[in-house]
Amino acid sequence: MMIETLERSISQGIPAPAAQPLNLRDAALEPIRSKVERGERLTIEDGRVLFATRDIHSVLAMADGVRRRLHGDVAYYNINRHLNYSNVCALSCKFCDFYAKVGESKAYTRDVEYIRGEAIKAVESGATEMHIVGGLHPQLPFSYYTDMLRSIRTVAPGLHLKAFTAVEIVHLAKIAKVYKGASGSDDSAITARREAIRYVLSELKDAGLGSLPGGGAEVFDDRVHDQAFKGKIRSDVWLTVHDVAHELGLNSNATMLYGHIESRDDRLVHLDMLRRAQDHSLTRLGYTPSADGSVTLTKPGTELPLQVASKRPKDAAPAGYFQTLIPLPFFPDGSELEKLAGPSGLENYRTLAVARLMLDNFPHIKAFWIMQTLPLAQVMLQSGADDLDGTVVWYDITHVGGASTHQEVNVPVLHKAIREAGFKPVERDTLYRRVEREGKKWWIAGSR
Ligand code: SF4
Repeated sequence: MMIETLERSISQGIPAPAAQPLNLRDAALEPIRSKVERGERLTIEDGRVLFATRDIHSVLAMADGVRRRLHGDVAYYNINRHLNYSNVCALSCKFCDFYAKVGESKAYTRDVEYIRGEAIKAVESGATEMHIVGGLHPQLPFSYYTDMLRSIRTVAPGLHLKAFTAVEIVHLAKIAKVYKGASGSDDSAITARREAIRYVLSELKDAGLGSLPGGGAEVFDDRVHDQAFKGKIRSDVWLTVHDVAHELGLNSNATMLYGHIESRDDRLVHLDMLRRAQDHSLTRLGYTPSADGSVTLTKPGTELPLQVASKRPKDAAPAGYFQTLIPLPFFPDGSELEKLAGPSGLENYRTLAVARLMLDNFPHIKAFWIMQTLPLAQVMLQSGADDLDGTVVWYDITHVGGASTHQEVNVPVLHKAIREAGFKPVERDTLYRRVEREGKKWWIAGSR
């Protein structure tokens, strides 16, 4: 009988206990706990305390409390397919073991026929999203990218196309020859840059682009950037791409690549820059900012952006926003930074929890299982994360510990992982709307 009960508990999920009163073992955390309970913005100094304390359990528990306030006992996943259309890249980032140069034996570029076939396979597998990214190909014309989206649209009109990092968007502006005069920091260059990015994003949106992924942000620090990611766009340009996307009504995500040559302070500055950008986007969406310009979502009873967006008048100006942060641990294997150790398991938990606590205006934090591994991602659901991402096929960009590039879990495995962590699995689409389905047929909850 006891075994039966245990089996039932495991298969149905053991409800994780609600946030308990915390017995802090480090008095320095006390003022932070008070702010977190009131939903107040933490300072960078608060972030330093969260990184420095030996009482890591309290840090994870506070992040868990915020996560439960925002999402209760729900944990999200999605059914998606990744497409890396080409690994040919004009850059050679030190941390990257994905890129190839034109003519190298491992170089590949998918043609439109291949991509259309992948879209058909995605639909046949019940996917709601296609996540499309690739290298900065020096020779493909801009029409390759718009044709790619249009051809997917024709065979898979219901598939959400989340495509092209900010780095790719700027590259496309260059190959579309609209980036002239857009490099530099004077006013005319800044204006030219916004216009060039707006042109590219508008054309892509017209061709079927649904949202932007969060890649290419790395860490927003010019020193680190120039040492490890030289040639890639810096933070100001990355943030401009996402701001223009939001202005056009496209939602986007953000990443933070950590555990390489950056410091913990660099991570905190990165998170602060992201939340200030989100302040701006959420104000555009309709939130009223505080006197200092901040908009927080973690005050008890605050509506999430998805709810606010759904109530906007149909003729309101477009307004997108950041949906989720995806903390990405650095894997040194195979890269030019191979001598580095990469982050430890504990550092992964702590960084994700600090991100949840600092990013008070990001609705979601993702434990990207393909990089964190599913066992670590399960614990992250109890440390601030509310989303695992999804089933993934052919994720070439990074593979953990030399694993095969063919990485996939099926829905029952994700359900089991989420239930074991004590949460209710909820399938979402790219925009975090709940999905209902009968087999491969799916629809947005409440839409019929
Ligand atoms: S990280 Fe991106 S931009 Fe850098 S080399 Fe790799 S594919 Fe190219």
